[in-house]
Amino acid sequence: MFPEITVTKTTSPRQKPQPGQPLPFGHIFSDHMFVMDYVEGQGWINPRIVPYGPFEIEPSAMVFHYGQAVFEGLKAYMCEDGSINLFRPACNFERMNNSNDRLVIPKVDVDFCVYATKKLVELDKDWIPSGKGESLYIRPFVIATDPYLGVRASSTYKFFILLSPSGAYYAHGIKPVKIYVEDKYVRAVRGGTGFTKCAGNYGCSLIAQTIAHESGYEQVLWLDGVEQKYIEEVGAMNIMFIIDGKLVTPSLAAGSILPGITRRSCIEIAKSMGMEVEERKISIEEVIEAGKSGRMQECFGCGTAAVVSPVGELKYEDTVIHINNGEIGPITQKFYDTITGIQSGKVEDKFNWITKVD
Ligand SMILES: *Cc1c(COP(=O)(O)O)cnc(C)c1O
Repeated sequence: MFPEITVTKTTSPRQKPQPGQPLPFGHIFSDHMFVMDYVEGQGWINPRIVPYGPFEIEPSAMVFHYGQAVFEGLKAYMCEDGSINLFRPACNFERMNNSNDRLVIPKVDVDFCVYATKKLVELDKDWIPSGKGESLYIRPFVIATDPYLGVRASSTYKFFILLSPSGAYYAHGIKPVKIYVEDKYVRAVRGGTGFTKCAGNYGCSLIAQTIAHESGYEQVLWLDGVEQKYIEEVGAMNIMFIIDGKLVTPSLAAGSILPGITRRSCIEIAKSMGMEVEERKISIEEVIEAGKSGRMQECFGCGTAAVVSPVGELKYEDTVIHINNGEIGPITQKFYDTITGIQSGKVEDKFNWITKVD
């Protein structure tokens, strides 16, 4: 049995989003949040659902100084029959534990965290938007809270889950993005934290993102941190190529790439369709060459936010390649339709990816 989660309901419920209201990502939060504390010697204690709102924390809390902070991201979907789907939630908490381990943060109980997520989503289910492509974004995270300025692992932590109603990523149809291949800055190195969703990975990536935006590109494609030669991933998405009809994607072996759950799902779908999948090193030269010669039929990013994001243009140094005439390709579309269909309950969940709330 799981520890009891105490519930303190809000006395001032806020205005829920109205059907049709635009829901830009990450601005609106539901009425409640889940919190628990970690105390050395006691473990994770005091699990509770409380009204969403500011909380007190000491300015000396270690998270502000040495960056022990990790997060996750997943979604809840309202089905037409009124039931609620979570997409592979245990994978998120398993991945959180890998992040925690790397940052010397104590692990969480995966099953209990899935249970806590269900409880919170159930309580705030009226916040799940039900328009096409809409969902409730779920943001679990952990921060170090010891009030101490020495450099060491904290002995206390707080774990939270926030809920944020989220609009359709493709409100105006799926439009391929322009991607800038970053050749100066790197995001991760072998032995570093690339495989974790730790806050620092995103702080250090902002400069490249900013420069890319200034030059009219939407996202950055990172190269490896050693030779700056091999493809790693896009901002908060993994990257995939269809080359000679095979699904080709960078291998996770060096630990510098975030193991996306969408990535894993695309690979599983591809294999179930009998498609050949290659997880391996892939150099930027190979991609440029495959793009120019027409051997690369499709290229797309994949992640929870967009599911898939077709790439229409790649810029590397002075070379620009265009992919599939700036249109979404049939295989990318197939992944999109299968994953979003399973998430919304319209396609049979033959992979067993859905966890129902309640
Ligand atoms: C979250 C994230 C992804 C995608 O992971 P999903 O589990 O598919 O959402 C890919 N790369 C980075 C850097 C990320 O932060």
